[in-house]
Amino acid sequence: MSFTDLGTVKFLEFQQEKGYFRLVIAVNLAYKTKYLSMNVWKEELLRNTSGQRFQLEDTVRVTYHQDKYIKLVSLEDVLIEFCPTCYYGRERIETLRVDCQGCSGLQPQLQRERFNENMVLMSCTPKTYRYSTGYHLELQLSASGDTTTYVAVIFPNNPQVYRRADNFKVGATYTVIAWRNNKLLDVIEIDQI
Ligand SMILES: [Zn+2]
Repeated sequence: MSFTDLGTVKFLEFQQEKGYFRLVIAVNLAYKTKYLSMNVWKEELLRNTSGQRFQLEDTVRVTYHQDKYIKLVSLEDVLIEFCPTCYYGRERIETLRVDCQGCSGLQPQLQRERFNENMVLMSCTPKTYRYSTGYHLELQLSASGDTTTYVAVIFPNNPQVYRRADNFKVGATYTVIAWRNNKLLDVIEIDQI
């Protein structure tokens, strides 16, 4: 089966000892992010229309085969606009669009709140979960006297954040962008202030 998605390059590095590139693309769906991870042997697939290697944060149209693994078919540069409500990504066009196919008509219980706050890291613990290792984070809002503890788990499918989690500092303040579901945060970006 062949699929096409619009996404953002989040990780692209040559794996010297393996002889391939590791590529991760984040695809914004309605109220969530899907990560496509793949190994790419053909370096020419990783060049844009100008012949330059794709870089982090480039927005792309990715076509791939998927069975057990994801196999890259093609990668093209494309301008993407994101829905201001659900952050669904779609190709940018000149005309004004009213409906978003990501969130219009979606049941309210599937909608989530976009969260963007400064938070203090209370703990960061590596753990082994059923399918993967992950970092279990506890965070509190830094501004108010609110001592509610929010929980986030960082998995390797978000490599940009995962590879930094080992160096997260308890007690430091971070800007956290996430989808919020009650006290659970599905982290998209987390950066120390
Ligand atoms: Zn939307």
